[in-house]
Amino acid sequence: MSVTYLGMPPFPEAAETSTRDERLRGNLRHATRTIRNKRAGAVAELADWSALRTAGAQVKDRTLRHLDHYLEQLEASVTAAGGTVHWAVDAREANQIVTRLVRETGEREVVKVKSMATQEIGLNEALARAGISAYETDLAELIVQLGDDHPSHILVPAIHRNRGEIRDIFRKRMGRWGRPAPEGLSDRPAELAEAARLHLREKFLNAKVGISGANFMVAESGTLVVVESEGNGRMCLTLPETLISVVGIEKVVPTWRDLEVFLQLLPRSSTAERMNPYTSTWTGTTDSDGPRDFHLVLLDNGRTDTLADRVGRQTLRCIRCSACLNVCPVYERAGGHAYGSPYPGPIGAILTPQLDSMETGLDASLPYASSLCGACYEMCPVAIDIPEVLVHLRERVVQGGTATVRGQRTTVRPAKGHAAERAAMRAASWTFDHPRVLRTGEGFAARARRLMPRRLPGPGRAWTDTRDVPQVPAESFRDWWRRTRGPSASAPAGDSTTGADGTGQREDTR
Ligand code: SF4
Repeated sequence: MSVTYLGMPPFPEAAETSTRDERLRGNLRHATRTIRNKRAGAVAELADWSALRTAGAQVKDRTLRHLDHYLEQLEASVTAAGGTVHWAVDAREANQIVTRLVRETGEREVVKVKSMATQEIGLNEALARAGISAYETDLAELIVQLGDDHPSHILVPAIHRNRGEIRDIFRKRMGRWGRPAPEGLSDRPAELAEAARLHLREKFLNAKVGISGANFMVAESGTLVVVESEGNGRMCLTLPETLISVVGIEKVVPTWRDLEVFLQLLPRSSTAERMNPYTSTWTGTTDSDGPRDFHLVLLDNGRTDTLADRVGRQTLRCIRCSACLNVCPVYERAGGHAYGSPYPGPIGAILTPQLDSMETGLDASLPYASSLCGACYEMCPVAIDIPEVLVHLRERVVQGGTATVRGQRTTVRPAKGHAAERAAMRAASWTFDHPRVLRTGEGFAARARRLMPRRLPGPGRAWTDTRDVPQVPAESFRDWWRRTRGPSASAPAGDSTTGADGTGQREDTR
Protein backbone atom coordinates (compact mmCIF):
# COMPACT_ATOMS: atom_id res chain seq x y z
CA MET A 1 0.00 0.00 0.00
CA SER A 2 1.64 3.21 -1.18
CA VAL A 3 2.12 6.28 1.00
CA THR A 4 1.12 8.42 -1.98
CA TYR A 5 -2.49 9.31 -2.71
CA LEU A 6 -4.27 7.17 -5.27
CA GLY A 7 -3.94 8.32 -8.88
CA MET A 8 -1.44 11.11 -8.25
CA PRO A 9 0.69 11.97 -11.30
CA PRO A 10 4.49 12.45 -11.10
CA PHE A 11 5.60 15.70 -9.45
CA PRO A 12 6.35 17.70 -12.64
CA GLU A 13 2.84 17.11 -13.99
CA ALA A 14 1.13 18.06 -10.74
CA ALA A 15 3.40 21.06 -10.28
CA GLU A 16 2.71 22.28 -13.80
CA THR A 17 -0.96 22.69 -12.84
CA SER A 18 -0.42 24.09 -9.35
CA THR A 19 2.18 26.68 -10.37
CA ARG A 20 -0.42 28.23 -12.69
CA ASP A 21 -2.78 28.82 -9.74
CA GLU A 22 -2.00 32.42 -8.80
CA ARG A 23 -4.27 32.43 -5.77
CA LEU A 24 -2.54 29.34 -4.38
CA ARG A 25 0.87 30.86 -4.96
CA GLY A 26 -0.23 34.09 -3.28
CA ASN A 27 -1.56 32.21 -0.22
CA LEU A 28 1.62 30.17 0.04
CA ARG A 29 3.96 33.11 -0.45
CA HIS A 30 2.25 35.11 2.27
CA ALA A 31 2.01 32.23 4.76
CA THR A 32 5.50 30.76 4.35
CA ARG A 33 7.20 34.17 4.51
CA THR A 34 5.31 35.09 7.67
CA ILE A 35 6.22 31.83 9.44
CA ARG A 36 9.81 32.00 8.16
CA ASN A 37 10.40 35.49 9.51
CA LYS A 38 8.84 34.69 12.88
CA ARG A 39 10.94 31.53 13.16
CA ALA A 40 14.16 33.42 12.49
CA GLY A 41 13.37 35.71 15.45
CA ALA A 42 12.51 32.83 17.79
CA VAL A 43 15.68 30.91 16.94
CA ALA A 44 17.90 34.00 17.27
CA GLU A 45 16.83 34.29 20.94
CA LEU A 46 18.79 31.15 21.83
CA ALA A 47 22.56 31.54 21.97
CA ASP A 48 22.99 27.75 22.05
CA TRP A 49 20.72 26.93 19.10
CA SER A 50 23.53 25.35 17.15
CA ALA A 51 24.51 23.12 20.11
CA LEU A 52 20.85 22.15 20.60
CA ARG A 53 20.61 21.24 16.92
CA THR A 54 23.68 19.03 17.20
CA ALA A 55 22.30 17.42 20.36
CA GLY A 56 18.97 16.74 18.62
CA ALA A 57 20.71 15.05 15.71
CA GLN A 58 22.93 12.99 18.00
CA VAL A 59 20.09 11.83 20.25
CA LYS A 60 18.11 10.73 17.20
CA ASP A 61 21.09 8.94 15.66
CA ARG A 62 21.90 7.12 18.89
CA THR A 63 18.27 6.08 19.30
CA LEU A 64 18.04 4.86 15.71
CA ARG A 65 21.26 2.84 16.13
CA HIS A 66 19.66 0.97 19.05
CA LEU A 67 16.05 1.20 17.91
CA ASP A 68 15.28 -2.45 18.69
CA HIS A 69 16.37 -1.97 22.29
CA TYR A 70 14.41 1.24 22.87
CA LEU A 71 11.25 -0.10 21.24
CA GLU A 72 11.28 -3.16 23.48
CA GLN A 73 11.90 -0.93 26.49
CA LEU A 74 8.98 1.24 25.41
CA GLU A 75 6.70 -1.78 25.00
CA ALA A 76 7.58 -3.00 28.50
CA SER A 77 6.97 0.47 29.99
CA VAL A 78 3.62 0.98 28.25
CA THR A 79 2.45 -2.49 29.26
CA ALA A 80 3.52 -1.95 32.87
CA ALA A 81 1.51 1.30 32.89
CA GLY A 82 -1.68 -0.49 31.80
CA GLY A 83 -1.55 0.05 28.02
CA THR A 84 -1.48 -2.54 25.22
CA VAL A 85 1.12 -2.44 22.46
CA HIS A 86 0.45 -3.67 18.91
CA TRP A 87 3.06 -3.98 16.17
CA ALA A 88 2.08 -3.12 12.59
CA VAL A 89 4.49 -4.01 9.81
CA ASP A 90 2.64 -1.92 7.22
CA ALA A 91 -0.37 0.31 6.59
CA ARG A 92 -2.74 -2.57 5.94
CA GLU A 93 -1.94 -4.25 9.24
CA ALA A 94 -2.17 -0.96 11.17
CA ASN A 95 -5.60 -0.23 9.67
CA GLN A 96 -6.81 -3.74 10.49
CA ILE A 97 -5.67 -3.40 14.12
CA VAL A 98 -7.32 0.00 14.62
CA THR A 99 -10.54 -1.06 12.89
CA ARG A 100 -10.76 -4.17 15.08
CA LEU A 101 -10.12 -2.16 18.24
CA VAL A 102 -12.84 0.37 17.39
CA ARG A 103 -15.30 -2.42 16.50
CA GLU A 104 -14.64 -4.09 19.85
CA THR A 105 -15.88 -0.93 21.59
CA GLY A 106 -19.15 -1.15 19.62
CA GLU A 107 -18.78 2.50 18.54
CA ARG A 108 -19.34 3.88 15.05
CA GLU A 109 -17.69 7.27 15.50
CA VAL A 110 -14.20 8.33 16.59
CA VAL A 111 -12.56 11.72 17.15
CA LYS A 112 -9.03 12.27 15.94
CA VAL A 113 -6.07 14.34 16.98
CA LYS A 114 -4.03 15.68 14.07
CA SER A 115 -1.80 12.78 13.05
CA MET A 116 0.42 12.38 10.02
CA ALA A 117 0.94 8.66 10.66
CA THR A 118 -2.79 8.00 10.29
CA GLN A 119 -2.85 10.04 7.08
CA GLU A 120 0.11 8.05 5.82
CA ILE A 121 -1.79 4.76 6.23
CA GLY A 122 -5.15 6.12 4.99
CA LEU A 123 -6.86 5.30 8.28
CA ASN A 124 -9.94 7.50 7.77
CA GLU A 125 -10.71 5.75 4.49
CA ALA A 126 -10.14 2.30 6.03
CA LEU A 127 -12.49 3.15 8.92
CA ALA A 128 -15.09 4.51 6.50
CA ARG A 129 -15.02 1.19 4.61
CA ALA A 130 -15.80 -0.49 7.93
CA GLY A 131 -18.74 1.88 8.53
CA ILE A 132 -16.90 3.99 11.13
CA SER A 133 -16.83 7.80 10.86
CA ALA A 134 -13.62 9.54 11.88
CA TYR A 135 -13.87 13.24 12.75
CA GLU A 136 -10.77 15.41 12.51
CA THR A 137 -10.63 17.90 15.38
CA ASP A 138 -7.61 20.03 14.53
CA LEU A 139 -9.04 23.21 12.97
CA ALA A 140 -6.96 23.00 9.80
CA GLU A 141 -7.57 19.27 9.46
CA LEU A 142 -11.30 19.93 9.90
CA ILE A 143 -11.16 22.41 7.00
CA VAL A 144 -9.35 19.82 4.88
CA GLN A 145 -11.83 17.08 5.78
CA LEU A 146 -14.94 19.21 5.21
CA GLY A 147 -13.48 20.39 1.90
CA ASP A 148 -12.91 16.78 0.77
CA ASP A 149 -9.32 17.80 0.27
CA HIS A 150 -5.76 16.74 1.13
CA PRO A 151 -3.44 18.53 3.56
CA SER A 152 -0.78 20.64 1.84
CA HIS A 153 1.51 21.59 4.74
CA ILE A 154 2.71 19.67 7.79
CA LEU A 155 1.95 22.37 10.33
CA VAL A 156 -0.81 24.26 8.52
CA PRO A 157 -2.62 21.59 6.48
CA ALA A 158 -5.05 24.13 4.98
CA ILE A 159 -2.36 26.69 4.10
CA HIS A 160 -3.66 26.69 0.52
CA ARG A 161 -7.03 28.06 1.65
CA ASN A 162 -7.78 31.69 2.42
CA ARG A 163 -10.46 32.93 4.81
CA GLY A 164 -13.14 33.34 2.14
CA GLU A 165 -12.68 29.77 0.98
CA ILE A 166 -12.85 28.48 4.55
CA ARG A 167 -16.09 30.38 5.18
CA ASP A 168 -17.62 28.85 2.05
CA ILE A 169 -16.54 25.34 3.08
CA PHE A 170 -18.00 25.78 6.57
CA ARG A 171 -21.29 27.11 5.19
CA LYS A 172 -21.69 24.32 2.63
CA ARG A 173 -20.28 21.29 4.42
CA MET A 174 -20.46 21.59 8.20
CA GLY A 175 -24.10 20.56 8.37
CA ARG A 176 -23.37 17.24 6.65
CA TRP A 177 -20.91 16.25 9.38
CA GLY A 178 -22.75 17.54 12.45
CA ARG A 179 -23.69 20.97 13.80
CA PRO A 180 -24.03 23.39 10.85
CA ALA A 181 -22.24 26.73 10.54
CA PRO A 182 -24.08 29.68 12.16
CA GLU A 183 -26.34 31.76 9.90
CA GLY A 184 -24.57 34.65 8.21
CA LEU A 185 -21.07 33.33 9.00
CA SER A 186 -18.48 35.84 7.79
CA ASP A 187 -14.78 35.31 7.01
CA ARG A 188 -13.61 37.01 10.22
CA PRO A 189 -11.12 34.67 11.98
CA ALA A 190 -12.94 34.94 15.32
CA GLU A 191 -16.26 33.90 13.74
CA LEU A 192 -14.67 31.03 11.84
CA ALA A 193 -12.96 29.77 15.01
CA GLU A 194 -16.22 30.01 16.97
CA ALA A 195 -18.10 28.04 14.29
CA ALA A 196 -15.46 25.30 14.45
CA ARG A 197 -15.49 25.33 18.26
CA LEU A 198 -19.28 24.81 18.42
CA HIS A 199 -19.16 22.11 15.77
CA LEU A 200 -16.32 20.22 17.47
CA ARG A 201 -17.59 20.57 21.04
CA GLU A 202 -20.49 18.29 20.14
CA LYS A 203 -18.08 15.69 18.78
CA PHE A 204 -15.84 15.77 21.85
CA LEU A 205 -18.71 15.33 24.27
CA ASN A 206 -20.21 12.38 22.38
CA ALA A 207 -17.05 10.51 21.45
CA LYS A 208 -16.19 7.28 23.23
CA VAL A 209 -13.09 6.54 21.14
CA GLY A 210 -10.19 8.87 20.40
CA ILE A 211 -7.40 8.28 17.87
CA SER A 212 -4.10 10.11 17.97
CA GLY A 213 -0.54 10.06 16.77
CA ALA A 214 2.32 11.30 18.93
CA ASN A 215 5.25 13.63 18.49
CA PHE A 216 7.45 11.59 20.82
CA MET A 217 7.40 8.41 22.92
CA VAL A 218 9.65 8.15 25.98
CA ALA A 219 11.03 4.62 26.31
CA GLU A 220 12.03 4.79 29.97
CA SER A 221 8.50 5.56 31.20
CA GLY A 222 6.22 4.57 28.30
CA THR A 223 4.96 8.15 28.03
CA LEU A 224 3.51 9.55 24.79
CA VAL A 225 3.71 13.25 23.99
CA VAL A 226 1.54 15.42 21.74
CA VAL A 227 2.33 19.10 21.22
CA GLU A 228 -0.31 21.37 19.70
CA SER A 229 -1.65 24.91 19.68
CA GLU A 230 -5.42 24.61 20.00
CA GLY A 231 -6.18 22.30 22.90
CA ASN A 232 -8.45 20.18 20.73
CA GLY A 233 -5.93 17.40 20.87
CA ARG A 234 -6.04 17.39 24.65
CA MET A 235 -9.85 17.01 24.52
CA CYS A 236 -9.43 13.91 22.32
CA LEU A 237 -6.75 12.51 24.57
CA THR A 238 -8.67 12.89 27.81
CA LEU A 239 -12.45 12.69 27.20
CA PRO A 240 -12.97 9.36 25.35
CA GLU A 241 -13.06 6.02 27.16
CA THR A 242 -10.70 4.36 24.68
CA LEU A 243 -7.58 5.96 23.22
CA ILE A 244 -5.74 4.43 20.27
CA SER A 245 -2.40 5.99 19.27
CA VAL A 246 -0.76 5.15 15.96
CA VAL A 247 2.89 6.15 16.00
CA GLY A 248 5.87 5.60 13.71
CA ILE A 249 8.62 3.60 15.38
CA GLU A 250 11.16 6.38 14.82
CA LYS A 251 9.32 8.66 17.30
CA VAL A 252 10.84 6.97 20.35
CA VAL A 253 13.38 8.83 22.51
CA PRO A 254 15.20 7.05 25.34
CA THR A 255 14.62 9.39 28.31
CA TRP A 256 12.90 12.55 29.52
CA ARG A 257 16.30 14.29 29.41
CA ASP A 258 16.38 13.56 25.68
CA LEU A 259 12.83 14.80 25.27
CA GLU A 260 13.88 18.13 26.78
CA VAL A 261 16.08 18.83 23.73
CA PHE A 262 13.23 18.31 21.29
CA LEU A 263 10.72 20.33 23.30
CA GLN A 264 13.04 23.28 22.73
CA LEU A 265 13.80 22.57 19.07
CA LEU A 266 10.28 21.77 17.86
CA PRO A 267 8.19 24.82 18.85
CA ARG A 268 10.75 27.37 17.72
CA SER A 269 11.22 25.60 14.40
CA SER A 270 7.56 25.00 13.66
CA THR A 271 5.34 27.72 15.11
CA ALA A 272 8.15 30.12 16.11
CA GLU A 273 7.04 29.87 19.73
CA ARG A 274 9.23 29.46 22.81
CA MET A 275 7.06 26.55 23.90
CA ASN A 276 3.91 24.92 22.59
CA PRO A 277 0.66 26.20 24.10
CA TYR A 278 -0.40 22.61 24.86
CA THR A 279 2.04 19.82 25.64
CA SER A 280 0.04 16.71 26.58
CA THR A 281 1.72 13.63 28.01
CA TRP A 282 0.12 10.36 29.04
CA THR A 283 1.44 7.10 30.40
CA GLY A 284 -0.77 4.02 30.10
CA THR A 285 -4.04 4.38 31.97
CA THR A 286 -4.95 5.95 35.31
CA ASP A 287 -7.96 4.99 37.45
CA SER A 288 -10.81 7.55 37.27
CA ASP A 289 -8.84 9.89 35.03
CA GLY A 290 -8.73 9.88 31.22
CA PRO A 291 -9.28 6.88 28.95
CA ARG A 292 -9.73 3.50 30.61
CA ASP A 293 -8.26 1.63 27.65
CA PHE A 294 -5.08 2.67 25.91
CA HIS A 295 -3.65 1.00 22.80
CA LEU A 296 -0.38 1.92 21.14
CA VAL A 297 0.04 0.78 17.52
CA LEU A 298 3.73 0.92 16.58
CA LEU A 299 3.98 1.48 12.84
CA ASP A 300 6.89 0.37 10.65
CA ASN A 301 5.56 0.86 7.09
CA GLY A 302 8.96 1.17 5.41
CA ARG A 303 10.88 2.69 8.32
CA THR A 304 13.21 -0.25 8.95
CA ASP A 305 13.95 -0.35 5.21
CA THR A 306 14.87 3.33 5.46
CA LEU A 307 16.97 2.62 8.52
CA ALA A 308 18.96 0.05 6.53
CA ASP A 309 20.10 2.72 4.08
CA ARG A 310 23.35 4.32 5.22
CA VAL A 311 22.62 7.72 3.64
CA GLY A 312 18.83 7.72 3.75
CA ARG A 313 18.45 6.79 7.42
CA GLN A 314 19.01 10.36 8.61
CA THR A 315 15.50 11.06 7.24
CA LEU A 316 14.14 9.25 10.32
CA ARG A 317 15.47 12.02 12.57
CA CYS A 318 12.63 14.25 11.31
CA ILE A 319 10.45 15.78 14.02
CA ARG A 320 7.90 17.14 11.47
CA CYS A 321 8.47 20.78 12.34
CA SER A 322 7.88 21.93 8.72
CA ALA A 323 10.71 24.50 8.77
CA CYS A 324 12.14 23.01 5.57
CA LEU A 325 8.85 23.63 3.74
CA ASN A 326 8.78 27.29 4.65
CA VAL A 327 12.18 28.01 3.07
CA CYS A 328 11.87 25.81 0.00
CA PRO A 329 11.51 27.76 -3.27
CA VAL A 330 10.01 24.71 -4.97
CA TYR A 331 7.38 24.17 -2.26
CA GLU A 332 6.49 27.88 -2.24
CA ARG A 333 5.66 27.76 -5.94
CA ALA A 334 4.29 24.23 -6.41
CA GLY A 335 2.35 23.88 -3.13
CA GLY A 336 1.95 20.75 -1.04
CA HIS A 337 -0.52 18.80 -3.17
CA ALA A 338 2.02 18.33 -5.96
CA TYR A 339 4.04 16.03 -3.65
CA GLY A 340 1.12 13.59 -3.70
CA SER A 341 1.36 12.36 -0.10
CA PRO A 342 0.79 13.62 3.45
CA TYR A 343 4.47 14.60 3.48
CA PRO A 344 5.00 17.67 1.30
CA GLY A 345 8.07 19.80 0.70
CA PRO A 346 11.71 18.78 1.07
CA ILE A 347 11.03 16.19 3.77
CA GLY A 348 8.32 14.63 1.57
CA ALA A 349 10.74 14.51 -1.36
CA ILE A 350 13.02 12.19 0.62
CA LEU A 351 10.65 10.44 3.04
CA THR A 352 7.85 9.34 0.70
CA PRO A 353 10.09 7.56 -1.87
CA GLN A 354 11.92 5.72 0.91
CA LEU A 355 8.79 4.59 2.77
CA ASP A 356 7.39 3.48 -0.59
CA SER A 357 10.62 1.75 -1.76
CA MET A 358 10.48 3.96 -4.86
CA GLU A 359 7.69 1.86 -6.34
CA THR A 360 5.60 4.47 -8.18
CA GLY A 361 6.34 7.03 -10.89
CA LEU A 362 5.56 9.75 -8.37
CA ASP A 363 8.15 8.30 -5.95
CA ALA A 364 10.80 8.34 -8.67
CA SER A 365 10.02 11.97 -9.52
CA LEU A 366 10.11 13.34 -5.97
CA PRO A 367 13.92 13.41 -5.47
CA TYR A 368 14.00 15.85 -8.40
CA ALA A 369 11.53 18.25 -6.75
CA SER A 370 14.36 20.40 -5.50
CA SER A 371 16.83 23.01 -6.70
CA LEU A 372 19.40 21.58 -4.23
CA CYS A 373 19.88 25.10 -2.86
CA GLY A 374 20.45 23.66 0.62
CA ALA A 375 18.13 26.05 2.51
CA CYS A 376 16.24 23.07 3.97
CA TYR A 377 19.42 21.67 5.52
CA GLU A 378 20.28 25.05 7.04
CA MET A 379 16.84 25.25 8.66
CA CYS A 380 16.44 21.68 9.84
CA PRO A 381 16.58 21.54 13.66
CA VAL A 382 17.95 17.98 13.56
CA ALA A 383 20.45 18.70 10.77
CA ILE A 384 19.09 16.30 8.16
CA ASP A 385 21.23 16.82 5.07
CA ILE A 386 18.25 16.74 2.71
CA PRO A 387 20.29 17.63 -0.42
CA GLU A 388 22.63 14.70 0.28
CA VAL A 389 19.68 12.30 0.52
CA LEU A 390 18.07 13.79 -2.60
CA VAL A 391 21.21 13.20 -4.65
CA HIS A 392 21.51 9.69 -3.19
CA LEU A 393 17.92 8.89 -4.19
CA ARG A 394 18.41 10.38 -7.66
CA GLU A 395 21.29 7.99 -8.12
CA ARG A 396 19.01 5.10 -7.18
CA VAL A 397 16.36 6.33 -9.64
CA VAL A 398 18.81 6.56 -12.53
CA GLN A 399 21.25 3.74 -11.79
CA GLY A 400 19.27 1.32 -9.64
CA GLY A 401 21.39 -0.62 -7.16
CA THR A 402 20.76 -2.51 -3.95
CA ALA A 403 18.25 -1.44 -1.31
CA THR A 404 16.28 -3.06 1.48
CA VAL A 405 12.66 -3.57 0.47
CA ARG A 406 10.23 -5.06 2.99
CA GLY A 407 13.16 -6.38 4.99
CA GLN A 408 14.91 -8.10 2.07
CA ARG A 409 18.13 -6.93 0.43
CA THR A 410 16.94 -6.38 -3.14
CA THR A 411 18.44 -5.31 -6.44
CA VAL A 412 16.50 -2.26 -7.56
CA ARG A 413 16.17 -1.59 -11.27
CA PRO A 414 16.54 1.95 -12.61
CA ALA A 415 13.24 3.80 -12.83
CA LYS A 416 11.56 3.88 -16.22
CA GLY A 417 12.21 6.85 -18.46
CA HIS A 418 15.83 7.36 -17.49
CA ALA A 419 17.47 5.20 -20.18
CA ALA A 420 18.21 8.23 -22.37
CA GLU A 421 19.69 10.11 -19.42
CA ARG A 422 21.90 7.16 -18.51
CA ALA A 423 23.07 6.81 -22.12
CA ALA A 424 23.80 10.56 -22.32
CA MET A 425 25.82 10.47 -19.09
CA ARG A 426 27.82 7.44 -20.24
CA ALA A 427 28.56 9.15 -23.56
CA ALA A 428 29.63 12.35 -21.73
CA SER A 429 31.83 10.36 -19.36
CA TRP A 430 33.51 8.55 -22.27
CA THR A 431 34.03 11.80 -24.15
CA PHE A 432 35.61 13.57 -21.17
CA ASP A 433 37.90 10.57 -20.78
CA HIS A 434 39.09 10.96 -24.39
CA PRO A 435 40.32 14.53 -24.85
CA ARG A 436 40.94 14.24 -28.59
CA VAL A 437 37.35 13.26 -29.14
CA LEU A 438 36.24 16.11 -26.89
CA ARG A 439 38.38 18.57 -28.83
CA THR A 440 37.02 17.36 -32.16
CA GLY A 441 33.49 17.59 -30.81
CA GLU A 442 34.06 21.14 -29.57
CA GLY A 443 35.37 22.18 -32.98
CA PHE A 444 32.41 20.62 -34.71
CA ALA A 445 29.92 22.21 -32.29
CA ALA A 446 31.53 25.66 -32.75
CA ARG A 447 31.26 25.40 -36.54
CA ALA A 448 27.67 24.15 -36.43
CA ARG A 449 26.52 26.40 -33.62
CA ARG A 450 24.16 28.47 -35.77
CA LEU A 451 22.30 25.29 -36.68
CA MET A 452 21.71 24.30 -33.05
CA PRO A 453 17.96 23.95 -32.32
CA ARG A 454 16.41 25.99 -29.54
CA ARG A 455 14.47 22.92 -28.39
CA LEU A 456 15.88 19.41 -28.23
CA PRO A 457 14.00 16.62 -29.99
CA GLY A 458 12.99 13.22 -28.56
CA PRO A 459 13.72 12.48 -24.90
CA GLY A 460 15.63 15.77 -24.56
CA ARG A 461 12.42 17.73 -25.17
CA ALA A 462 11.35 17.53 -21.52
CA TRP A 463 14.63 19.20 -20.54
CA THR A 464 14.17 22.12 -22.95
CA ASP A 465 10.48 22.57 -22.07
CA THR A 466 11.61 24.74 -19.20
CA ARG A 467 15.13 25.76 -20.28
CA ASP A 468 16.92 27.25 -23.26
CA VAL A 469 19.57 25.14 -24.93
CA PRO A 470 22.86 26.84 -23.94
CA GLN A 471 24.47 28.65 -26.84
CA VAL A 472 27.71 27.14 -28.07
CA PRO A 473 30.47 29.78 -27.99
CA ALA A 474 32.37 30.52 -31.18
CA GLU A 475 35.61 29.71 -29.40
CA SER A 476 36.17 26.97 -26.83
CA PHE A 477 37.82 27.69 -23.48
CA ARG A 478 40.95 25.81 -24.54
CA ASP A 479 41.26 27.82 -27.76
CA TRP A 480 40.71 31.04 -25.81
CA TRP A 481 43.39 29.98 -23.33
CA ARG A 482 45.90 29.21 -26.07
CA ARG A 483 45.10 32.41 -27.95
CA THR A 484 45.36 34.69 -24.90
CA ARG A 485 48.29 32.95 -23.14
CA GLY A 486 50.23 32.01 -26.23
CA PRO A 487 51.06 28.55 -27.55
CA SER A 488 53.76 28.02 -24.88
CA ALA A 489 51.37 28.63 -21.90
CA SER A 490 50.77 25.77 -19.49
CA ALA A 491 47.64 23.84 -20.26
CA PRO A 492 44.53 24.73 -18.26
CA ALA A 493 43.77 22.21 -15.53
CA GLY A 494 42.39 19.01 -17.01
CA ASP A 495 43.58 19.74 -20.58
CA SER A 496 45.67 16.70 -21.27
CA THR A 497 45.69 17.23 -25.04
CA THR A 498 48.06 20.15 -24.79
CA GLY A 499 51.44 19.40 -23.32
CA ALA A 500 53.48 21.88 -21.34
CA ASP A 501 55.50 22.40 -24.50
CA GLY A 502 52.38 23.55 -26.29
CA THR A 503 52.79 21.02 -29.04
CA GLY A 504 49.51 19.31 -28.38
CA GLN A 505 51.35 16.01 -28.69
CA ARG A 506 50.69 14.58 -25.25
CA GLU A 507 48.14 11.83 -25.55
CA ASP A 508 45.65 10.53 -23.09
CA THR A 509 47.66 8.04 -21.06
CA ARG A 510 44.77 6.09 -19.64
S1 SF4 B 1 13.25 17.54 7.70
FE1 SF4 B 1 13.96 18.85 9.39
S2 SF4 B 1 13.08 20.87 8.89
FE2 SF4 B 1 11.95 19.38 7.64
S3 SF4 B 1 10.15 18.82 8.85
FE3 SF4 B 1 11.75 17.33 9.36
S4 SF4 B 1 12.78 18.16 11.16
FE4 SF4 B 1 11.62 19.84 10.27
